[in-house]
Amino acid sequence: MTFKELGLAEPILKAVEAEGYTSPTPIQQQAIPILLKGKDLLGVAQTGTGKTAAFGIPILHHLYQSQNGQKGRRKIKALIVTPTRELALQIGDSLTAYGKHTGLRNTVIFGGVKQAKQVNALRNGIDILVATPGRLLDLMGQGFITFRDLEFVVLDEADQMLDMGFVHDIKKIIAQLPAKRQSLFFSATMPQAIVQLSQKMLGDFERVTIKPQQATAEKVEQGVYFVSKKNKPKLLVHLLNENPSDTVLVFSRTKHGANKIVKKLSQANVNSAAIHGNKSQTARQKALGNFKDGKLRVLIATDIAARGIDVEDLSLVINYDLPNVPETYVHRIGRTGRANASGIALSFCDKEERPYLRDIEKLIKQEVPRMPEHQFVDDEGSADEENQNPKQGRNQNSSQNRNRNRNKRRNSSYRGRNNKNRPSGQNNNRRRSED
Ligand code: AMP
Repeated sequence: MTFKELGLAEPILKAVEAEGYTSPTPIQQQAIPILLKGKDLLGVAQTGTGKTAAFGIPILHHLYQSQNGQKGRRKIKALIVTPTRELALQIGDSLTAYGKHTGLRNTVIFGGVKQAKQVNALRNGIDILVATPGRLLDLMGQGFITFRDLEFVVLDEADQMLDMGFVHDIKKIIAQLPAKRQSLFFSATMPQAIVQLSQKMLGDFERVTIKPQQATAEKVEQGVYFVSKKNKPKLLVHLLNENPSDTVLVFSRTKHGANKIVKKLSQANVNSAAIHGNKSQTARQKALGNFKDGKLRVLIATDIAARGIDVEDLSLVINYDLPNVPETYVHRIGRTGRANASGIALSFCDKEERPYLRDIEKLIKQEVPRMPEHQFVDDEGSADEENQNPKQGRNQNSSQNRNRNRNKRRNSSYRGRNNKNRPSGQNNNRRRSED
């Protein structure tokens, strides 16, 4: 299927071609026709599937078709609500790119910065507003925003909004929208609270599901290292030094942890920067900009801050900590292997994180391939632990020595010359055929 076959307006086809998209991704193939028919949509999909274009393109198409001869100040006709500043900016950039020949205007509003510039943009008139919930409610309350002319609303990353405690804000926003509108609801996961929220928001809707398993199993090579908490910095430095040309995104569960990783890397002469909620907006944008431009090779991010990161040549994601929410793992590894590219995601798992690994494997319905043992093996001997009968007890020291000796004989490169060192695809295949 081609974009042309979807029946899109010429200026949009031209822009999509300039972006280098040759054919629509699965979510685009399914969602665009539904949205062009004017139906509501429930999209169960993660970032990295091309969902921004899946909702952005039909909205631009409709607005372009209906703007003929429009006079006077532009009125907000489409609202996109998304949880983080990074994601909002990313969506704004995509809409600007897809709509560059349509004459339609968008602006992005988010908290943590002064409001004057955003208010000015609103005063000048825009067609599409991309917003995070807090600042949106704030500016609505101050009377700078009216939704009288609204035709489209998109709720993006609904599960993340729920995690971040935005659910009441969202309900307040929805309550102020005109009843007659087309509503789009996107979430990577569908826990009960999200199902309820979607029912509140959507009218007669169609559902499109792009399973996360597809993204993880088919596009991203995965691997897990068992390593003690103490040795994680050493393993990270080792992997970064072994693969100096890779652009690497490292995930940390906490903001404090992210800062600590930057410090440890700096002690090992590896330059990196962290982005998380405690960093100023300017610092976050600068770090992200440098990372995207290739000036900064290693970026450390917390989950929330990383939601908007869209870097084309991201070759490696490292889960320095395993997330305690398994869906987050899927989000994280979806940062690599975007659209048509393939990527590698490696995880560090210490003893306490073993239950998280089990939950992840249950969700993605596959075993994350075990990486060969390495010189920074878990001091607690956890590489052996999986096969051990807990009742038997063991001699801790001899187990450690055994591991260390064995590890000396191998190296830990995930791109070693022999394939033993790559995350093995064998397990994935076996699981898939079992499913
Ligand atoms: P998203 O899921 O919207 O964050 O998009 C993920 C990435 O896929 C972005 O870098 C987009 O530019 C890219 N992308 C979206 N649609 C396509 C397409 N049809 N062909 C190739 N790349 C695409």
